[in-house]
Amino acid sequence: MISALLGIGLAAMLIWGMENEPKPRYYHDAGDIFGTYYNIRYEAKSSICDSIQAALKAFDNSLSMFNPHSILSAVNANRDTTTDAAFEAMWAEATRVYDLSNGAFDITVGPLVNYWGFGTKKPTPDPFLKGREVDSIREFIGFEKVALVDHKVVKQDSRVQLDAGAVAKGQACDMIAAVLARQGCENYLVDIGGEVVAHGLNDKGEPWHVGITKPNLNNEGAQEELQEILAVSDVKMATSGNYRNYYYADGERRSHTIDPRTGYPVQHSVLSATVVASTCMRADAMATACMVLGAEDAMDMIRRAEDAACYLIVAQNDSLVVIKSPNWDEKLTK
Ligand code: ADP
Ligand code: MG
Repeated sequence: MISALLGIGLAAMLIWGMENEPKPRYYHDAGDIFGTYYNIRYEAKSSICDSIQAALKAFDNSLSMFNPHSILSAVNANRDTTTDAAFEAMWAEATRVYDLSNGAFDITVGPLVNYWGFGTKKPTPDPFLKGREVDSIREFIGFEKVALVDHKVVKQDSRVQLDAGAVAKGQACDMIAAVLARQGCENYLVDIGGEVVAHGLNDKGEPWHVGITKPNLNNEGAQEELQEILAVSDVKMATSGNYRNYYYADGERRSHTIDPRTGYPVQHSVLSATVVASTCMRADAMATACMVLGAEDAMDMIRRAEDAACYLIVAQNDSLVVIKSPNWDEKLTK
């Protein structure tokens, strides 16, 4: 009798507990980080906002060029500092993509990025001095001029600077995705400045919809159009484009992708490169590498990488042409 009563009591407690347990719902967290925006959507029983903020802050303290107290800023200022796990993961990937791209992707490109006006300073290249100035800066550009030894960056030349701008957004996406996964989230979309990690389904129970922007060279300020909308449930993807961050000077169009091998902003027909890879950090670095390499060499690099696929938008006789690597569709749905 007593045990039956206990059983009923226990069942009632369980039902009461279930009713009071919060139901999962979709949360949205948005803000600014290292000079760009973030938009994070996820399904959870309660907000994970605090963990996300803490992770973004830790990441900013390691790799942000906009944070004067970050490890990266200390390395650039030749202050004594010790690298952390995020910095070392960035370094490992930067090394890999430097090799894979035959030096087209190079995180020591920073001083040239600044010279051409895409860093913190405004563009001032003097057309008469340009060649000489570029050559003198190139003396301290080159990933082979730096090494990571016992958690310290060792420079051959103290003028060498590091620029993680082409990897950090993707890496931060991976890191936030890991925070969400650790908290048991199955359904999330992390978007940091256009780099994306998507997993599971959206709040309508559908795959996440991710747009690839149509490059628009002639119509500044016009509303952005989409080239394509992808439906994805498990993807790490990054886009690099030369159609947003550029200016005209001396009759040239200068974009923020610099070819470290020449010292000049790249001038070819690839307007945007979207890459999917096994991590968003890798996709981010490789998308920038594709922009530097141009269509043919980019396809070659993607083939050699094995875990990546790409979608290039190329200008051809006043129209836009899409060139996809043969494994593109397969990698999107894998
Ligand atoms: P976006 O997503 O804004 O197109 P990217 O991921 O292509 O950006 O990164 C562009 C940034 O990468 C530049 O602003 C510069 O800081 C850096 N960068 C430019 N050229 C190179 C290069 N050849 N290798 C590595 N980083 C580069
Ligand atoms: Mg990039």
